[in-house]
Amino acid sequence: RAQNQAQALALSDAMTRACDFYRGQLRSAPNAIEYLKRRGLTGEICARFGMGYAPGGWDNLRSVFPEYDALALVESGLVIDKVDEEGNRQKRYDRFRERIMFPIRNVKGQVIGFGGRVLDSGEPKYLNSPETPLFQKGLELYGLFEARQSIRDAGYVLVTEGYMDVVALAQLGFPQAVATLGTACTSTHVQKLLRQTDTVIFSFDGDKAGRKAARRALEACLPQVTDDKIIKFLFLPQEHDPDSFVRERGADAFDQEIHEAMPLSQFLLREVSAEHDLSEPEGRAHVQFDAKPLLQSMAPSALRLQIVRGLAGLTNSTPAEIEGLFELAKPVAV
Ligand code: ATP
Ligand code: MN
Ligand code: MN
Ligand code: MN
Repeated sequence: RAQNQAQALALSDAMTRACDFYRGQLRSAPNAIEYLKRRGLTGEICARFGMGYAPGGWDNLRSVFPEYDALALVESGLVIDKVDEEGNRQKRYDRFRERIMFPIRNVKGQVIGFGGRVLDSGEPKYLNSPETPLFQKGLELYGLFEARQSIRDAGYVLVTEGYMDVVALAQLGFPQAVATLGTACTSTHVQKLLRQTDTVIFSFDGDKAGRKAARRALEACLPQVTDDKIIKFLFLPQEHDPDSFVRERGADAFDQEIHEAMPLSQFLLREVSAEHDLSEPEGRAHVQFDAKPLLQSMAPSALRLQIVRGLAGLTNSTPAEIEGLFELAKPVAV
C-alpha cells in the first residue's frame, strides 16, 4: 500500500511537471496559438483548462526529466519504450509530439492524463494517455474538476463527447460541461455525475456515433436512476457537435436545445418503438422484446412504472401484463 501510494505520487508529480512544460511551450508555438485562435478559443479559456503544446521532436521531455532514461516514466505514458524482437529496450521517446495538450484532472485537481490533438488534419486526431493506476478512462470525466462549482450553480451537468466541446462551451457560457474520454459513458461515470447534481443532460454529437453513444449512456443510466434524479438527452442536428453548434447558432439557441432536451423515459420508448410497426401484433411484441432488458435493468421505482405505462399504451397491453411478462415484481438477480 505504501508502495502504491509512493508510485501514485511519483506518477502525479511526473504529470504535473509535464503539464507545466507543455503550458510553457504553447507560449512559444505560434502555429499552435494560430490553430487555437482559428478554433475560436481565447487565451484566457486555454489557460483556465491548463492547455499546452507538445512540440515536435522525439525527446523534449529530457529537459523536464533529467532522469529521462532511468525514471519509470513509461508507466505514466509520457514516453514510450521502443523494444527489439528480444524485448530489449532500444530507445525511449516522447509519446506526444506536435499536439495541443489537454490535461485531464481527477476530482482532487491532480493531472492524471492528457489528451493530445493534432493541428489540423492528421492521424490519429486525438492521442490519449494510456491507462495507469492513476488514470482509468471508464472512471474519469474530462473537465469535471473545472466544472464542479458551475454544475452546482446551474443545477445540472452537460455531458459531451469531446475536449473541444467542453472548452468551447465553457468559453461561450456553459461552464457546466464535461466529456467522456473517447469511451462510452459507463455506469461509474453516471454514478460520479449523480453525486455532483441531480440533473444530467447528455449532449453528444449529432452524427451516428453520437446517437450510438446516447443509446449506451441510456443503458448506463438505467441501473442508476432514482425518482429524485432527472436524465435528459439533447440531440443536435446531424452535422453538429456542441462546439460547432454553439459557435454557429449561438448560446441562446443552445440554451433552447437544453430546455427542449428529451427526458430519459421518452428516449427509451422512442428507442424501442422507432424500428417497429405498432399497428401489427408482431411489431408490438418486438417492441416489448426490446424493452424487456432495459426495464429489467432498472430498480423498482415510480419512474419505471411510468415507463411501463407508456410501453403498455404503445403496445396495446396493460401495465400488469408487462410487469408479469418482464417478471418485474421479482428482484432481478445480478
Ligand atoms: P474536434 O472538434 O477537435 O475535431 P471532437 O471532440 O469533435 O474534436 P470527435 O471526432 O467528435 O472529435 O471525437 C470525440 C472525442 O473522442 C474526442 O474529443 C476524443 O476524446 C475522442 N477521440 C476522437 N478520435 C480519437 C482517436 N483517434 N483516438 C482516441 N480518441 C479519440
Ligand atoms: Mn464525433
Ligand atoms: Mn468537434
Ligand atoms: Mn465531435
